[in-house]
Amino acid sequence: MFTKEYALSLLNTGSTEVEALYRRADEVRKHACGEDVFLRGIIEFSNICAADCTYCGIRASNREVERFKIPSDEIVETALAAKSAGITTVVLQAGESQAVSDQELGQIIRRIKEESGLAITLSVGNRSEQTYRYWQACGMDRYLLRFETSDAELFGRVHGSCSLDERLECLRSLRRLGVQTGSGFLIGLPGERLEILADNIMLCRELDLDMIGIGPFIPHPHTPLGSFPNAYADQPEMFFKALAVLRIFNPTAHIPATTAFDAVFPDKGRDLLLQRGANVFMPNITPAKYRSMYLLYPNKPGLVESECECLQCAAHLVKRLGRPIGKGPGHTLKRR
Ligand code: SAM
Repeated sequence: MFTKEYALSLLNTGSTEVEALYRRADEVRKHACGEDVFLRGIIEFSNICAADCTYCGIRASNREVERFKIPSDEIVETALAAKSAGITTVVLQAGESQAVSDQELGQIIRRIKEESGLAITLSVGNRSEQTYRYWQACGMDRYLLRFETSDAELFGRVHGSCSLDERLECLRSLRRLGVQTGSGFLIGLPGERLEILADNIMLCRELDLDMIGIGPFIPHPHTPLGSFPNAYADQPEMFFKALAVLRIFNPTAHIPATTAFDAVFPDKGRDLLLQRGANVFMPNITPAKYRSMYLLYPNKPGLVESECECLQCAAHLVKRLGRPIGKGPGHTLKRR
């Protein structure tokens, strides 16, 4: 039943049946994950990046970016403040570089774990199995690394520094170590066809991921793909259909309502996603003074709110939907 042809037929759902597709995705979510919405506070702790992904606003070659790295103490304090505000997971995300060394990051993880017991997710790109093992020993619970596209040729075109195989090998390393593993993809990279989108969904299922994050590609003017529109620019409903089909194909994965949806559908993207298959929300808790420097794409929401306002917004949104905020760390729902 869960074939690529079936995924394609669901992605081709016409406008008269699309609400039924969303209702089905919402029911699958409710049945497999329950009503809880888990909050994961994301700290974008550095925009220094050695990679040169052609879609990304913080790519190494973008000289317009003012680079920053949040000092270790401030990262730990931010995590501890989030814990006091009721957050149970922090996600530490940054560009791919040694600007914060593996050891320094290990110490940050250790301190957050010892001082708060928070669940810790890392998202800092391709690393060796040895490094992942070290961070796991420090207290890392989860890792997010999108494969971005399942099409090896398209992957090669948008990433200078690594191949799709290398990225998938990182995901396999994480899985071998028993780290809860998240991946996902960009929807609508220039050159993507519907076939590739269906393959992306199939690859998520094949990898049996604990968490899956997807979001529309948004052209950033200071990147090589800046003047290329999203492949579904004329049918933005496809972004929501992709998430609904993803949920139907991956019932027990944690699926966040990602920020990029709010950039495309201001004030309602993430809200709608939580009603169309998503069960996780990731408020941005990066200290406000750094936010505008972590501009992966234009119109990124939440650039001026304080950490506290972002958390309050998230809590209001979840309440408005009549759903409870998940208690506890919200670990993987997969039983292996
Ligand atoms: N360096 C780490 C990595 O690549 O996994 C983490 C940071 S990276 C900036 C986080 C994610 O941002 C990427 O996985 C990518 O999907 C997303 N992203 C980057 N540029 C984007 C754009 N122009 N539109 C939408 N999402 C984008």
